[in-house]
Amino acid sequence: MVTPTIISLRPGATESAEEHGILSQTPTVSNRQTDPSPDTTTRPSPHESGKRLARRGDSGWWGLHSKTCDDPVVIKAVFFDGDQTLWDFEVLMRRSLTATLTQLKALRPGIRTEDLDIESVVADREAVAKELRGTEANLERIRLAAFSRTLSRLGLPDDDLAGQLNAYYLLHRFDNVELFPEVVDALTVLSRSYVLGLLSNGNGYPERSGLGGTFASVVFSQDHGVEKPDRRLFDVAAAEVGCDPDEVVMVGDSLPNDVSGAQNAGWRAIWLNRDGRDRPDEYTPDAEISHLMKLPKTLRALQLVPSTSAARP
Ligand SMILES: [Mg+2]
Repeated sequence: MVTPTIISLRPGATESAEEHGILSQTPTVSNRQTDPSPDTTTRPSPHESGKRLARRGDSGWWGLHSKTCDDPVVIKAVFFDGDQTLWDFEVLMRRSLTATLTQLKALRPGIRTEDLDIESVVADREAVAKELRGTEANLERIRLAAFSRTLSRLGLPDDDLAGQLNAYYLLHRFDNVELFPEVVDALTVLSRSYVLGLLSNGNGYPERSGLGGTFASVVFSQDHGVEKPDRRLFDVAAAEVGCDPDEVVMVGDSLPNDVSGAQNAGWRAIWLNRDGRDRPDEYTPDAEISHLMKLPKTLRALQLVPSTSAARP
């Protein structure tokens, strides 16, 4: 694992940056003495006010001043990945598949148990998704095709039964989402200072997980025909909240999808590393956290660091 370079911003700022995992590929030193950090305790939430973000340069509740090259860029919006960031999709998916296969055994008692292990069903789904890439983006239809594949593999080709299994799976998959324990508290705190968004390659609908009304923007790859890390998805998200790329931060568990994807679009990116995984040299998140409750302080510290991300041409 590469030891991150800690940016020294001004007297007293280094400890804060280090504490909150701020990383930098290129050490930058600024001697500015002014504190550009916004007063996050008094800024009204755009959710509470029901207003969309004012673009940079507009007069409004951001209270922005005329910018210079040395000014920090105000972070206005924070987008979150869904699976493994806000909820544990792996556990949910396997639990829902287990329930669905139990249902299948009840419907077709003759099926051999050894042919129905979860791993083979997961592999069927991955193979189908790979085959349909570029022609089918809807995750529920991909899952349906995967159940058809599994039944065919078992020697039971039956589209009606695949449809029943898909409905059963989706019922469990959508109704049993468990957020990571700190998610609600973290999002509640952050919503007082930032516009929040969901940017996901999955289909975890916020209203099905108790997060209805939390996000000003919900962007699913399946609705746009491209997946993270494709820059176009990040462009859609930034446009939805009316922000320039350098005003938006992505938070997610995937280094290629969430970190590199966001940075290539000109966003900053915070890597959520719950498990203490090693970070390959090729990835350089702007910050790394192990827990979402570290985000408020991390974002304030990140605010002091000029963005090094640049949108690809
Ligand atoms: Mg994820």
